[in-house]
Amino acid sequence: MFPDNLLPVFDRTDVIFEQGEGAWLTASDGRRFLDFGAGVAVNALGHAHPRLVAALEAQAGKLWHCSNLYRVPGQERVAERLIKASFADTAFFCNTGAEAMELVIKIARRYHHCAGRPERNRIVACTGSFHGRTIATLAAAGTPKYLEGFGPVAQGFDHVPYGDLEAARGAIGSNTAALLVEPVQGEGGIRPADPAYLRGLRALADQFGLLLLMDEVQTGIGRTGKLFAHEWSGIAPDVMGLAKGLGGGFPVGAVLATEKAASCMTPGTHGCTFGGNPLAMAVAEAVLDEVMAPGFLERVQAVAALLRGRLDDLARRYPGAIAQVRGQGLMLGLKTVPVNTEFNAKLFAAGLLAVGAGDNVVRLVPPLIIGEAEVERAVEIIDGVCRG
Ligand SMILES: *Cc1c(COP(=O)(O)O)cnc(C)c1O
Repeated sequence: MFPDNLLPVFDRTDVIFEQGEGAWLTASDGRRFLDFGAGVAVNALGHAHPRLVAALEAQAGKLWHCSNLYRVPGQERVAERLIKASFADTAFFCNTGAEAMELVIKIARRYHHCAGRPERNRIVACTGSFHGRTIATLAAAGTPKYLEGFGPVAQGFDHVPYGDLEAARGAIGSNTAALLVEPVQGEGGIRPADPAYLRGLRALADQFGLLLLMDEVQTGIGRTGKLFAHEWSGIAPDVMGLAKGLGGGFPVGAVLATEKAASCMTPGTHGCTFGGNPLAMAVAEAVLDEVMAPGFLERVQAVAALLRGRLDDLARRYPGAIAQVRGQGLMLGLKTVPVNTEFNAKLFAAGLLAVGAGDNVVRLVPPLIIGEAEVERAVEIIDGVCRG
């Protein structure tokens, strides 16, 4: 069906999108799709947002790349915005989520190394999590399916069930450096953590002198209705990875950390050739201008509540199609009764893009700029698929 010149690691749908506008995509055959996948929770401001286009175009004519051997004012500005709005004192820019999480892991190990506790190099992580596709981030998540054939598995990770505070406590030993968690598991099936669980992890980290690491690659930048999902629990991590929504579709990742956690990351201990280049920073700054504008996150919360209410209603009316609705903000999952990929294929055929996730879930992660009309249209399509 397709040319076979690409490494066949993706199970691609046979469609070519040529143009996007807001939450809508137009395919090469003229079909229009309502995009509730947003490039897997990436296009936070939808497609072709005028402010992002203008920011990219303005920077494109000036300077694309100069390396991190020199100052990049865009990095300093984006860092300032992120730090002011968070627990963090320092920021690092990279290109992807996995890269961000690699640095999160490195900071945790280095912190104890410099404190004279090099034996504290193990991280307690959760089953069902996802942190990326590099050798270390695969090991961090520990998902057997993704690790198969790629051994030897990187050392230094102990896994406990997500949401089980007692198991986390039980896994902490004299070699433990940090606890790692997603505030809402995304790939794992849109599973939100109980705020009490996150508060409990914070307390354990403090009690045992560990760092609390959060993967907000998917949940960050307004996805759950707060700038960062951990804000819902009232606690903060020591180190956090960001990516997906931060560039609104331009590849950019970031790590935020407290001064204490990052105190040992001195010149030469890390780096990234492309990270935080002027193009990426111009777009990220524009994304933050929008997402941090007064009222933006309140609107996300309101439209998310509307969508959630409609989906809960569908689940009540079609128990044979939707077993459960879960998630937070505009990061919602339908645990479907039919196989999720089949349900998702029917949504696609009816003009709605969604994304599969673990635990037989169909993920709805629309652009944060959707309005009532897009919610009603999406619900109409899902209703039609549930009716069969
Ligand atoms: C997508 C994702 C990653 C990996 O991001 P890449 O940009 O694909 O490397 C890591 N953690 C979480 C929670 C993600 O959703």
